[in-house]
Parts: sequence; structure tokens; C-alpha cells
Amino acid sequence: SDPDLVERARAARAALGSRAFVLGHHYQRDEVIDFADVTGDSFKLAREAAARPEAEFILFCGVHFMAESADILTSDAQQVVLPDLAAGCSMADMAAINQVEDAWEVLQDVGIADVTLPVTYMNSTAAIKAFTGRHGGTICTSSNAEVALRWAFDQVGGVDGTGKVLFMPDQHLGRNTALLKLGMSPADCVVFDPRKPNGGLTDAELRDARMILWRGHCSVHGRFSERNVTDIRAAVPGVNVLVHPECKNEVVEAADYVGSTEYIIKMLDAAEPGSSWAIGTELNLVRRVARAHPDKQVHYLDSTVCFCSTMNRIDLPHLVWAMESLVAGRTVNRIVVDADDAHWARVALDQMLALPG
Ligand code: 13P
Ligand code: SF4
Repeated sequence: SDPDLVERARAARAALGSRAFVLGHHYQRDEVIDFADVTGDSFKLAREAAARPEAEFILFCGVHFMAESADILTSDAQQVVLPDLAAGCSMADMAAINQVEDAWEVLQDVGIADVTLPVTYMNSTAAIKAFTGRHGGTICTSSNAEVALRWAFDQVGGVDGTGKVLFMPDQHLGRNTALLKLGMSPADCVVFDPRKPNGGLTDAELRDARMILWRGHCSVHGRFSERNVTDIRAAVPGVNVLVHPECKNEVVEAADYVGSTEYIIKMLDAAEPGSSWAIGTELNLVRRVARAHPDKQVHYLDSTVCFCSTMNRIDLPHLVWAMESLVAGRTVNRIVVDADDAHWARVALDQMLALPG
């Protein structure tokens, strides 16, 4: 990147000192990661934000829902800044609060709302996290989805009982966790399509389901296919296929390992020198992992799938602009969740942080 810009970033970072704390998600560009005080997956970053009461400014290099969660988990005096407000998430956008409220009414009409608990993926708006808190549910991330689901089913009569979970908004993470970790069957899962009356389901289908999966997905991970796995196995004998749980079920079933971004990094750290890996997640992370392990062969699961375009909105010019503005006494791009939503979203986030493990 531009050496002048790097110099300006260094100067602004030094001027802010301990007043600021910079968080970087694993999908961020290298030029941004270079300035992160801590890097992590969604779960780790939420905990890190909550654990920095001394920082006046939390600069969140990630996407909007992560910055909202950081605002919810920090004190009112702390300011959370997202260097580019256009850094959203297409998956979070697939569940609007009015759609979720309508869906809940459907469950009430069918008579199953009182045996259903919402479990909401971190990749969602603050309003939906608040909905989750108001209805006694929990937030989860890709690193604790199994524990979160087990907890939720325990609240409604156990994994083998008749209670249900409304899982939003990533159908793939919900399905993968239910099938691979909870031992459920595809027949236990239905997909609720918010654009269709009754979610596109009959009352009987809703009553029989255990996992009601919101019809949402990640536009990056949704592009990996089972064929990619077959092709890489043919091209690279002995390759270990490692994918993120936002991938479709057939991809996860065909892979050898599945886990969050933090898990992916740890797997490669622990891998044998000379071993071969094909990774199915966002490209910035895969490239960084490959560079960190020159003694291992790291392949990208599908060379046509690429960056998360919204994660990539945060670049060095935006970070420099945000930091220099703070140095000049102007807070730009502050993310503030309204007080009532923040309260209830915090209830759901605290429930997640209190889960075992
Ligand atoms: P994790 O960092 O929790 O694995 O999530 C990946 C992701 O898609 C974040 O947007
Ligand atoms: Fe959203 Fe997918 Fe990008 Fe993550 S990788 S921020 S889920 S679009």
C-alpha cells in the first residue's frame, strides 16, 4: 500500500495511543490487519470489545453488525467507529425485523411459539438480537453454535423432546450444526421463507419441525460447491478440506473439517509440515494463512469465489480518515444502537457469553 498512507496511519495510531483500541476481523485486508491491536473471529472480537472499558474509542475493522454488537457490549461513554458505513453484510440484510416479527406471529397462529426459542447468529441486525433477547433466546457465532443450540433445546425440553428453535438468519450454519453436532435428521429441519405466506410451509410442517431455519445465507460461502471438494481431492491427493460452517451442507459433509475462522487458523498452526490443505472461506484469510505457512501447501477451495466485498470496504484510506478524525477531535461513523434495542440485545449477547465453553 501507499507508503505515505502507512506513515499517516502510524502517526494517527500513535497519537491516539491507549485512547483507542483497534479490532480486526480475520476477513480484513492485510493493510488493515497491520494496524489491528487484536484480530479474531466474531466471538473473540465481541469478547475483546467487552473487555476494553478503558478505551474511549473502539475502531471496528469488520462489518456493521459486529460494530453494533461492540456498541451494545461497551459502556455509553465509549464510542464505536466503523471506518466505512457501507461495510454491511448481505446475510444480515436477509432478515429484517418486521419479517421476523411477522414470522413469530405465524408461529403463534400455528400454536408453537411458546415451545420455540430464537437462536440468532451474530450476523444479524441489533433489532433482531433485541427480538431474541425479548423472547428468551440467545445469540451464537460459528464457534459456539452447538453449545448455543444445546442450551436452547434444554430450555424447551431437550434435544430429544418436542421443543423447537427458530434459527436466524443463516440456514446453513443452523442446518450444519443440527445435523452434524446434534444428530438431527434433514426431516427435522424446515426452511422458513419470509417472502412467502406462512414461510412457504404448511402448519403441519411447522408443527413437526425441530429446527425452523430462516432462509438466509452468506453470499461468499454459499458459492462453494460439493464439486469443488471433489475436484480438489482429484487434483491434490491427500488434501485436507477445511471449510467454514456457513457453507452448504453438501460441502460441509464432503469436507474433512469444519469451523470458524479462528478454528481454521488454529488447524493450520497445528498442521504437519508438508501437509496439503484446501480452505473454503473468504480469500483475505486464506491468503494470510498460506503466507504464514510456507512449509504447508495451502489451496483455495474455489479460485472463482473471492473476497467478501463488504468486509473489503474497510481499507487503509478509510482507517486513516477515521483515525485522523478522532485525533482532530471529531468522531466519524459512530455506531449507536438505540437504548431499548441495546438493552434487549445485550440480554441475548450476555446469554451467549455465559454459555459453557
Ligand atoms: P467467524 O469469524 O465467526 O467465523 O464468522 C465468519 C463471518 O462470516 C463473519 O462475517
Ligand atoms: Fe456477511 Fe458472508 Fe461477508 Fe461474513 S463473509 S460479512 S457472512 S457476507
